[in-house]
Amino acid sequence: MSEVLTGVLVSASRFEVYERELGVVFGRRTFGWSHEYVCVDSLETELERARSLSVDELADAIESIGFECTRCGACCKAADCDSDGSEESEPHTATVFPDEIRSIQKREEYDWRDVARPMPYGLSEGPEGQSGETFEWALQTDACGDCMFYDESGAASADEPDAQQTGGGECTIYGDRPLVCKTYPFSVALGGTSQPMGEAVDGEGMVRAHECEGLGRDISRTEAEDLAGALKERAIRELEEAIQVRDEYEPATPADGEIVVHDSEGAKSPDGSVR
Ligand code: SF4
Ligand code: SF4
Repeated sequence: MSEVLTGVLVSASRFEVYERELGVVFGRRTFGWSHEYVCVDSLETELERARSLSVDELADAIESIGFECTRCGACCKAADCDSDGSEESEPHTATVFPDEIRSIQKREEYDWRDVARPMPYGLSEGPEGQSGETFEWALQTDACGDCMFYDESGAASADEPDAQQTGGGECTIYGDRPLVCKTYPFSVALGGTSQPMGEAVDGEGMVRAHECEGLGRDISRTEAEDLAGALKERAIRELEEAIQVRDEYEPATPADGEIVVHDSEGAKSPDGSVR
């Protein structure tokens, strides 16, 4: 019999509730594009592991797995959405940190809500709409559930110098895309507890590879090292954020129709303002 406790639980990043069963703590963790239940080790222990990661070894693993982005756009879009947005699909849910949101905001003087939305996991649907507490931000999505910054037409590149073409479309904030986008389709498994981004389809050493049609292709050493550096940076950032979320957390008891997002800077409303 498990006891569901209210409160924040953190492993390498973000949580909604935690459960304690036979002395083992599990948390539902959201990571990049997916979420799952994981056994939770000490965040500080994971952070030590992340800081001691060898970029060379991560690059070796990435080279061994192989990767070249085909620009298919699959990691920027919701699956199975009709062009008119009528078909039900799981919206795109890429994690974005508060400072990353602010960097993207500066590009076009975007409002917070233009860039990010509360991560929906853990929220409940009621008569007044969604409500509850959640522990991270996701990139904003369009009516189809695609990332707001994915331009299917590819038309933005004419006046957007760092737009990155992806299949027929492109990332319109390429230079400021979050770390989770820079490192896709890879993640780092830090040993005992971290299995970020859902099920891996391949792995080498501590590097896990997730669903992507570009896996298995040749990659240059320079590109592998760049990716490895970003992967290490992301692992550290996720843990630092998680530790701050844990330390800042105060239960917010939101009303019906109210959402509170706990991030590393405290409790916020969906418009990014501090409560
Ligand atoms: S990273 Fe993979 S899934 Fe994403 S656009 Fe490139 S090939 Fe497609
Ligand atoms: S920010 Fe760019 S790379 Fe990341 S999901 Fe959106 S369109 Fe894709």
